[in-house]
Amino acid sequence: MERTVAFFVPGLLYVALFLLNGFLPGRWVHGYISNPETSEKMKYRLNGILVFFAAVLSWFVLGYFDMISYDWLYRYRWYELGGAFAFGMFFSLAVVVPYPSVKKSFWKDFYLGRKENLQFMDGRIDAKMWLYLVGAIMLELNALSFTAHHYLLYQHQSSTGIFLTTILLTYFLIDYLTFEEVHLYTYDLFAERVGFKLGWGCLVFYPYFYAISLWSTVDLPDPHTPTSFLICYVLLFFLGWGLSRGANLQKYFFKKNPTKAFLGILPETISDGNNLLLVNGFWGMSRHINYLGEILMGTGIILCTGYPALIWPWLYPLYYVILLFPRQIDDDKRCVLKYGKLWDEYKQKVPYRIIPFIY
Ligand code: NDP
Repeated sequence: MERTVAFFVPGLLYVALFLLNGFLPGRWVHGYISNPETSEKMKYRLNGILVFFAAVLSWFVLGYFDMISYDWLYRYRWYELGGAFAFGMFFSLAVVVPYPSVKKSFWKDFYLGRKENLQFMDGRIDAKMWLYLVGAIMLELNALSFTAHHYLLYQHQSSTGIFLTTILLTYFLIDYLTFEEVHLYTYDLFAERVGFKLGWGCLVFYPYFYAISLWSTVDLPDPHTPTSFLICYVLLFFLGWGLSRGANLQKYFFKKNPTKAFLGILPETISDGNNLLLVNGFWGMSRHINYLGEILMGTGIILCTGYPALIWPWLYPLYYVILLFPRQIDDDKRCVLKYGKLWDEYKQKVPYRIIPFIY
């Protein structure tokens, strides 16, 4: 019986999060892209951080009153993964099939999507932002439950590194939701359609694969990683966070007001008369220092588990390399089309793609 329930849990949770996203208080903001039908800036209603804390509090209260054990999601993870998989497929079909085709092949449309922007309930819910939100919350609940399993198993002999991994993952998610508005200025929002890649990616891949470092180590005993090593791993994570968050915020403020200083640094720019590009601060280190930051954060998170010789946790930062290196090449092509000679000038001024002095 519990296995059947577990299969339906992700789907039910995603629906509940849809309702919370739609009905909890939120703030309306203008996005970066324009609505192709009206040419006006897209509007979004954001309340991700509130939905996140409502979900985490519910998990805690249900566990506290013994209604659902804290490690339930860990015990039935394979059934939940199966349910999330099915829900993700159903969702992907539902957001692709009803809309006019974009590519000749249905499968290309299915994978990449047909609609650029899908909003529900008079714009109160944006499909892309909802997808990133539910992915983040399901990941957090998985991380908490997996860690609870470790604690229930080992009690006072639990590994400090496991708790650190969960704290860093939680920080990563809260940080994303705190700066949810900045996400409106990223590739995901301006260059992607809603299909399998984004839908299945956020409903299945994000909450389960991103938890792989915990999934693969919470059953193992404390590896007794020296405290000095753990401190280095946490510092590595925050170095990555500084690069990633710093670059994303610098660009966000620049797009809103190209003359405003960020962290006391006035924007230095190049221009062709129509467009402006930033060439200093984070955007002067490499053309995608934020991608390097993301990879360093992932590495710090998995190292904290204390099993550097185990292959599974490494898949997490490796995935970022596989995702972000080709993405940089795609983004570069997009920028060549958009900025022309100005982009060549930027490339001369900032020759490194991702890793300063190396690549
Ligand atoms: P960027 O935020 O780097 O956006 C690239 C765009 O920024 C370009 O297309 C261009 O768009 C603009 N731009 C580039 N260079 C400049 C410049 N010098 N001055 C002004 N504008 C510039 O990339 P993404 O959107 O791909 O990534 C956003 C964040 O999300 C990153 O930190 C990334 O690491 C993270 N991410 C996280 C993932 C995760 O799973 N955790 C997955 C994928 C990404 P425009 O046309 O607007 O000028």
